[in-house]
Amino acid sequence: MFQQKQRTLLELKCSECGKAFSPKNQGLWYRFLDGQILLTCPTCYEKWENQYEVINAEFSDNPGYGLPMVTIYFKNGQVLGPVSYMAENNHIEIPGYDLPMSAKIKLKELAKAYWAEKEKQKLKTFRLVDTFDEQYIFAETNAGDQYKIRFKYGRYGEMILDPSTKLPEYVLKQIEQKMRE
Ligand SMILES: [Zn+2]
Repeated sequence: MFQQKQRTLLELKCSECGKAFSPKNQGLWYRFLDGQILLTCPTCYEKWENQYEVINAEFSDNPGYGLPMVTIYFKNGQVLGPVSYMAENNHIEIPGYDLPMSAKIKLKELAKAYWAEKEKQKLKTFRLVDTFDEQYIFAETNAGDQYKIRFKYGRYGEMILDPSTKLPEYVLKQIEQKMRE
């Protein structure tokens, strides 16, 4: 016996705009909520993606305390953060927040630029010259910026940097760190 198997069209309905749609890419966007699969049509997805386009992000690394943090600025004017983030291979994940993949990829690009800048700012040379005639610190960053800061000893043997020397904040922080070591 020839068994007839009927083909039936499953209509896809968007959970956001309520309209029937055809999938555009190889797959479907969906959310799983209360045991239900909620579909999102390509139009609604694009609208969401467009609203949550990342315009800028500020990263802060708080060494020693959990995950690093980021503040994200979106095209629609909304600001998210500071929130903790996790760097994946080609995007950045914000635990607890649903963001379009394009936004997560953009965040990774911004993070890479931030990390590269941080690397340039790191001191590759730190030298303390403390002789009878001269007391100064020589510091050079990975970017090649050089700084010479005179210092003297205070009443309790503490080092006092010449206040007339102009230093970027990131250089000063590293020098203070080295002086504590
Ligand atoms: Zn829709």
